[in-house]
Amino acid sequence: MRVLVTGAAGFLGSHLTDRLLKEGHEVVGLDNLITGNIRNIEHLSGNPKFQFIKHDVTEYIFLSGALDALLHFASPASPIDYLELPIQTLKVGALGTHKALGLALGKGARFLIASSSEVYGDPLTHPQQETYWGNVNPIGPRGVYDEAKRFGEAITMAYHRSHGLDTKIVRIFNTYGPRMRARDGRVVPAFITQALSGKPLTVFGDGTQTRSFCFVSDLIDGVYRLLLSDLNEPCNLGNPTEMTILQFAEVVRRLTGSKSEITFEPLPTDDPRVRQPDITLARTELGWEPAVSFEEGLRETIRYFQEVGY
Ligand code: UDP
Repeated sequence: MRVLVTGAAGFLGSHLTDRLLKEGHEVVGLDNLITGNIRNIEHLSGNPKFQFIKHDVTEYIFLSGALDALLHFASPASPIDYLELPIQTLKVGALGTHKALGLALGKGARFLIASSSEVYGDPLTHPQQETYWGNVNPIGPRGVYDEAKRFGEAITMAYHRSHGLDTKIVRIFNTYGPRMRARDGRVVPAFITQALSGKPLTVFGDGTQTRSFCFVSDLIDGVYRLLLSDLNEPCNLGNPTEMTILQFAEVVRRLTGSKSEITFEPLPTDDPRVRQPDITLARTELGWEPAVSFEEGLRETIRYFQEVGY
């Protein structure tokens, strides 16, 4: 296949690009590099099957030649990124998704959008199933991301229903691994880099809120299976192993051998209390489930930060 990936220089986009190339596909990577990093794909320079185009996906995309699949992964994705870039976040989810769908339709390419567990907001059901409609504050500071993803899903389903486009929606739960930015503000890079530099681990709130962390290679494997599947309804992908943020801080301290203290800071507005994916659909439809244990994935991520610096 010839495949286009938006956000190809980002954390997930770059791992996805690697996987697609490994499977023998040709990849065109798009990124405007506002939160993506060219270092994530520099190992691909000179690869005849990879082409990089610096482009903002909210602007018209001109691409010559055939296209078989388009995966839309461009977006600021960490809470501090989308608080700093609220308008870009809304634009990439709305205008960017529209442009990407238009290109996929024009080329007859299948389309997959990276949506998010954030469409569930601060969920009132637990764990979260795809049938849950969510509890989102549309005007809160996080709303820019949540509503961008919700609009992205809505327009994707509209293209599917109105134009018969073969579309897929993946709702990605917290994912971690090498190539996360040390300072993107998310809890995994934050705690690892704090622990490695002997600084206090900054737990927001009382640390009893929960998250369920999925290692990046598992997530990408699920995305690839979804791309090849017949599923058009949204599909959760994530690791159901749930823990509190305080428990997570303890694991990071243990695995890094750090003596960092734990400090408590105010909880960000609308921070979800709990989050855990129900992955029954992915299990039954894609034959997928996570394979990498939390310790294994975390050790690899710690090694990454030790190598690249922080
Ligand atoms: N968090 C924290 N300390 C940090 C960064 C995040 O306690 O330095 C908390 C945050 O409040 C949230 C959880 O960790 O409850 C996960 O945050 P993250 O930004 O990684 O992703 P989210 O799941 O909120 O999108």
